[in-house]
Amino acid sequence: MVGRSDDETADHGVRGTGAVTDVGEVREADVIVVGAGPGGSTTAFHLARQGVTVELLEKAEFPREKVCGDGLTPRAVRQLVTMGVDTSDKGWLRNKGLRVIGGGVRLELDWPELASYPNYGLTRTRMDFDEILANTAVSAGARLRTSTNVTAPVLDGDGHVVGVHAQMGLDKEPIEYRAPLVVAADGVSGRLPLALGLAKREDRPIGVAVRRYYRSPAKHDDDYLESWLELRSREGGTKLLPGYGWIFGMGDGRVNVGLGVLNSSAAFGKTNYRTMLTDWLSTTPPEWGMNDEANADGPILGAALPMGFNRVPHYTRGVLLVGDSGGMVNPFNGEGIAYAMESGEMAADVIVQALARPAGSARERALAGYPTALRARYGGYYRLGGWFVQLIGNPHIMRVATKHGLPHPTLMRFVLKLLANLTDPRDGDAMDRIINTLTRVVPAV
Ligand SMILES: Cc1cc2nc3c(=O)[nH]c(=O)nc-3n(C[C@H](O)[C@H](O)[C@H](O)COP(=O)(O)OP(=O)(O)OC[C@H]3O[C@@H](n4cnc5c(N)ncnc54)[C@H](O)[C@@H]3O)c2cc1C
Repeated sequence: MVGRSDDETADHGVRGTGAVTDVGEVREADVIVVGAGPGGSTTAFHLARQGVTVELLEKAEFPREKVCGDGLTPRAVRQLVTMGVDTSDKGWLRNKGLRVIGGGVRLELDWPELASYPNYGLTRTRMDFDEILANTAVSAGARLRTSTNVTAPVLDGDGHVVGVHAQMGLDKEPIEYRAPLVVAADGVSGRLPLALGLAKREDRPIGVAVRRYYRSPAKHDDDYLESWLELRSREGGTKLLPGYGWIFGMGDGRVNVGLGVLNSSAAFGKTNYRTMLTDWLSTTPPEWGMNDEANADGPILGAALPMGFNRVPHYTRGVLLVGDSGGMVNPFNGEGIAYAMESGEMAADVIVQALARPAGSARERALAGYPTALRARYGGYYRLGGWFVQLIGNPHIMRVATKHGLPHPTLMRFVLKLLANLTDPRDGDAMDRIINTLTRVVPAV
């Protein structure tokens, strides 16, 4: 592995100790991680902890905004605990479970008690959540370079990726980073995999979601994540709108409110999602403060949710795809942070083993283990998720399911476990066993 030097360089946007060799305008490391979102920072953290030299390249400067619902389920909390992130300070708000609203029913479902996951979730604005994770990676030894925009892969004569070209700072100074392995954690835009010809798969689910912050003293410290299965419009009395909504308290006087529409819905791509959000919010109680522009904190922003492995293969020619770059959002509930972090940890484990082998076929065999591990963990579950997305794209089926399912708390506890992917793999209860069996017997995506 590349020798450590403890040079704290004074470069613009650099944090972290040495662990890289600078050769003129070419910088070398064991691994380059592109993108310091949750996926990239988690990958860099686990690599650095195992003595691997890592360059973590991020085009933005922290703190920076990322369009998200800011909701963390127990799956994501487990990852934070593993990384030793302190979630006890006031920027974090704990939640006990999910409040589901639809079909005239309002049901509070606590997160399940499991051996594998904690029994609480969190919210924290991505404005500083991502910075916290990036700093955690730096503390573990990764070198973070912000204002560094990766523009293209560097290829060797065999078309294998051996580094990346980047532009640094406002003056876009060109720079090259070299490493035997590169992790693409560059989010839904996936510029790096796109440059390698890895386009999104059209046969996989995808969603679009918009969100906005509102000042809401009434809802800001809600200790349940609130999920709306039916959205109504003020116009025409109670016209049903397509899509599903959320209201998550941020604990700082604000709520994060948003809605998402899946590509299985007839309305996908044909609706003004921003108008739809304000239309829905105009039906909420005035004391919540969300139907008054004066309480809005910032604009309505939106982005895509790439689901169910919508970009594959997850390893090719020296590049591993992590998180949204590899389309890993859970199709059942639109959660992506936990999956970005988990895939980052899995990629790091595989890379450590691969780098311990000589370059060539032995190393490639180890790297092939990454997509295999991803399919084993999520393949069956995402197959079920793809079917689920097809089903709920039909508003009639959704209405019948909401009407007949929500009044049954036991059934809904099962649904919560399924939708949030929260089961114990071994020694779980009957619900866990059903879900685990289902995900095992269906063919992996
Ligand atoms: C409206 C909305 C609501 C959502 N709500 C939730 C939620 O409540 N909970 C949840 O778990 N998930 C939610 N998601 C999904 C979640 O936001 C993503 O799944 C998650 O951010 C994926 O993490 P990532 O690290 O893979 O990618 P990202 O978070 O997108 O990070 C990618 C990083 O790479 C950087 N980058 C990109 N290109 C380059 C480049 N060329 N060079 C250098 N750096 C680059 C970006 O600046 C960014 O920092 C939501 C998504 C949307 C759109």
